[in-house]
Amino acid sequence: MSLKTRLLGLASILIILAASASWLAYRELSEDIIERWGKQVTEIQVRYDSARLLQSLEREIGLARQMAQSSTLLQWAASPDNPELTSAAIRQMESFRNNFRDNSYFVALRENGHYYYNNSDNQYANDQFRYVLDPEKPDDAWFFQLIEEGRDFHLNVNPDQELGVTKLWIDVLMRDERNEILGMVGTGLNLDTFLQDIVDIGQEGITTLFVDYNGAIQLYRDRNYIDFASIIKPEGQKNTVDLLFEDRQDKQQILGMLQMLKQRNGEDGAVESGFVTIDGRKHLAGVAFLPAIGWFEITLLDLNALVPTSYLWPLVAVFLMSLLVSLIAFHLIIQSRILKPVLSLEAAVMRLREGRFDLPYLPKPDNEIGRLVDHFEKMTSTMRDTTAELEHKVAKRTEELHRLARVDALTGLKNRRGLDEVIEQEIQRAEREGKGFGLIWLDIDHFKTINDTRGHQAGDDILCRVALWLKATVRPYDHPGRWGGDEFVVLLSPCDKDTLEQIANRVRASVEQESQRTGTSVTISVGGYFSQPGDDMDTLLRNADQALYQAKRGGRNRVCIHAATGEETHPA
Ligand code: GH3
Ligand code: MG
Repeated sequence: MSLKTRLLGLASILIILAASASWLAYRELSEDIIERWGKQVTEIQVRYDSARLLQSLEREIGLARQMAQSSTLLQWAASPDNPELTSAAIRQMESFRNNFRDNSYFVALRENGHYYYNNSDNQYANDQFRYVLDPEKPDDAWFFQLIEEGRDFHLNVNPDQELGVTKLWIDVLMRDERNEILGMVGTGLNLDTFLQDIVDIGQEGITTLFVDYNGAIQLYRDRNYIDFASIIKPEGQKNTVDLLFEDRQDKQQILGMLQMLKQRNGEDGAVESGFVTIDGRKHLAGVAFLPAIGWFEITLLDLNALVPTSYLWPLVAVFLMSLLVSLIAFHLIIQSRILKPVLSLEAAVMRLREGRFDLPYLPKPDNEIGRLVDHFEKMTSTMRDTTAELEHKVAKRTEELHRLARVDALTGLKNRRGLDEVIEQEIQRAEREGKGFGLIWLDIDHFKTINDTRGHQAGDDILCRVALWLKATVRPYDHPGRWGGDEFVVLLSPCDKDTLEQIANRVRASVEQESQRTGTSVTISVGGYFSQPGDDMDTLLRNADQALYQAKRGGRNRVCIHAATGEETHPA
């Protein structure tokens, strides 16, 4: 795996870890905020819903109480069989009917169990006495139950089978001055209209319901849950509020809240709240007790509807964008600050390994890698200089060796190898240009005797001096050299036969004269040969040597030139 992949992978993991941690922290924080905010909203909503219910019922309850205290009705209730009192009572009832919002009323008398009723259509005009309540009939049980409980005021959702209506009934007990219960009066409100006005008001994500003192559902948008005729049902058969929750803990929590509020007995504005789950969605439940009617108001806030998760999508998008931007930025930084310099450096090192010192442009970021590149460049520069210096020295030394290999150590003239080379070059030039050149071969006369009589060192001195004289006598562009022992060869070029003869003679005379002048008389014999184009090395040397032999045989201290055309050599 490349460095880049590793770094980018590592960066992604770190960013995702950091982002996840921030996300969790954010979730925690936002849930906390939503919870606090939700609780406040719930409290406000609870009070609002409670107020709406009470406002709507207040007038009806007040009227019902007034009706229950009507002296006309109380007198009649005490003597229900009195026809005068009855007709006065019915007039009174009818006047109340006109005042009730529902334009309906009921009056039930304890004395004879007579039940009076009329509605907005004045359906039972002159026939307000509807039926007689029967303690044995389950449908009538509510009346006897309420009297037994002695609760002055009661709200009850109940279908009236006789009348064929389902209403929210407001029941108020009639009591005489001795506080004896004489009967019950009240009115009913159309349940459907009431539910629409108070409970099912179409606030998105908000559910309102009312439960009675025992937790039995009284007003709820789904009629199937309403605990009709709750008053006469035994405990355990009621549709209590916990039916709305699936989770056991939620059930216990909500019942616990009711219990708590009961203990505080409707302490002004007391609201309990907590989280519950309904249909798999998290809700915030707020509960308040309404002492005026003895019911609880429950508000359920669907947090997801109020603060939808879709609100978070921009945040997720921002997160993904910043992740992408961070990775791109990271990639660019790694690329320009690390990878590019490192790869260029690697390429430069490979070049250096191949012995190439000409470095290309290397990027130098302002960091450790930049400094490394800088050191590398300086090191390369030093290596280049040192190598160049060494190469120069080697070249010089090689040149020197080359020269020494062609120089005679004693005399400083060309040695045999040096002579070979120049003669070879001259043969080729002669061949190319069709012009000949001259070759002189000379040998010191009786040199053995000099060695023998004056010593080897003196012999060496003579050799050196002869070399000096020879060099001084020939032209600057001729090539004098020591062939070996006491023999010397001179290559003369350019040259013709006359010049060959002249120089050969001049050399011989110079040695004779100079040696005499320095007090050590020495003579040389000289053989000369003028080459013909096409002559090879052997021919040249053999002919020159023959000429020298000729000079020796002719008595020494003389010059013999070999005839180029194959003539006999002749003494000059
Ligand atoms: P000739 O006139 O026939 O040439 O007689 P020569 O005595 O010179 O005989 P030759 O040329 O054959 O002898 C050359 C002598 O030179 C033989 C050798 O002892 C001597 N010699 C060769 N090289 C050196 C050298 O480097 N130094 C000295 N001192 N003597 C050398
Ligand atoms: Mg000799």
